Amino acid sequence: MKKNDVFTVTIEDMGEDGAGIGKTDGYTWFIKDALIGDVIQASVMKMKKNYGFARLVKILEPAPARVEPRCPVARACGGCQLQELDYREQLRFKERKVYNHLKRIGGMDRLFLPEDREKAAGVLDAVVMEPIIGMEDPWRYRNKAQYPVGLGKDGQLTAGFYAGRTHSLIPAPGLDCLLGCQENKELLKIILDFMKEYKIKPYDEAAHQGLVRHVLLRKGFSSGGLMVCLVINGEELPHGGELAERLREAGVSSVSYSVNTERTNVIMGTRIVNLYGPGYITDTIGDIEYRISPLSFYQVNPVQTEKLYGTALEFADLSGGETVWDLYCGIGTISSFLAKKAGKVYGVEIIPQAIEDARENARRNGIENVEFFVGKAEEVLPEQYERNHVHADVIVVDPPRKGCDPVCLETILKMAPERVVYVSCDSATLARDVKFLEENGYRATRVRPVDMFPMGGHCECVVKLERVGK
Ligand code: SAH
Repeated sequence: MKKNDVFTVTIEDMGEDGAGIGKTDGYTWFIKDALIGDVIQASVMKMKKNYGFARLVKILEPAPARVEPRCPVARACGGCQLQELDYREQLRFKERKVYNHLKRIGGMDRLFLPEDREKAAGVLDAVVMEPIIGMEDPWRYRNKAQYPVGLGKDGQLTAGFYAGRTHSLIPAPGLDCLLGCQENKELLKIILDFMKEYKIKPYDEAAHQGLVRHVLLRKGFSSGGLMVCLVINGEELPHGGELAERLREAGVSSVSYSVNTERTNVIMGTRIVNLYGPGYITDTIGDIEYRISPLSFYQVNPVQTEKLYGTALEFADLSGGETVWDLYCGIGTISSFLAKKAGKVYGVEIIPQAIEDARENARRNGIENVEFFVGKAEEVLPEQYERNHVHADVIVVDPPRKGCDPVCLETILKMAPERVVYVSCDSATLARDVKFLEENGYRATRVRPVDMFPMGGHCECVVKLERVGK
């Protein structure tokens, strides 16, 4: 076969990012938008020695789990990977993904899927995965959106999302995205109208010219507070006061812009200029109120975050007197959850503004048994351990997708906490780190995925590891 050849294939499996996998004469094809059970016509895009990529041309027989996508650009837009899969099947897919990683990369031969509980009987140290925590209503769950601004095919100013793997702009239909807040489209319209009126150009990535790169929108689901932050390729936003006024009238409580003049894929710049409001919004998870600034990391799905933190707290198994370290703590959200049930909690986070928020959050909520450190987990923890001989009964980690740094893991071993609770947004690196901990005196005893990103391919997961000696 060669490029553009059309062939028929049955989809038998699904890859990491949700792409369908099928075989012809033993050769493997990855086909985006094709689902397990579909019989399709596909055309060859690219062929490697052992596998190739093809494009979905026509669905001959749809898979039983195939549903009509709600968004007209679901396929083209990089924001959703699984919208055409029935939500219950999305959950199954994610469970299996975590399971496969922990088994293949993590070497957890004694792990079983929730439905295979019976097979676990009699297996030494068997761990039956707990069912994934899904959402009742898997739409409009995001409290944050970052819309790139640019010109559509018609040359008109628009905002939307990037297509998968590229930076070509897919305008959001009616400026709306079904994963985001209802308010977003109105706010985007105000911003785009303002840009048109004052002839403010969108940023052109290729030419590194133009001003407005992205619009960051955030909402505090419990407080109702709305935040707008424009990311600009310049030091100043012309008529910024006027824009702030219009947004204020529309109910926005915090307006700012962020300066990013670099040629980079990183969205936010480091300098924030405040135009209106206190520079932050608030949100509540459980009974704790958090302050969120434009640069702070904050989980995007507040409904599921509460369940995720609840699971982490349950796995931490605290009785009141423990010393807990919360590594990669962001604005201290997990730290304050833990603080209610622990003796003392130490948080470590690399972004200084997030730690400022963390301290302020603890103060606001009257939490006195937490202390925060700015710096890399792999530097702060060894330093505190070697210099101050700090101790931990429980260590919670919630690293970015690349997982924990080896020095961080080595230090955890030296500190020898009773339990490690690993909160992960990437089960492949989770599995790698679980393997290392299991080889060095810990044993994973509970595994529970949480669906933080319905329609997307990523899955969050919490693992409890207990010390077994050494
Ligand atoms: N636990 C938090 C944040 C998790 S996201 C929450 O649930 O909200 C991961 C966090 O790790 C981010 O805030 C990121 O800034 C931080 N981070 C990334 N690399 C780090 C490192 N080497 N050391 C400490 N923190 C780091």
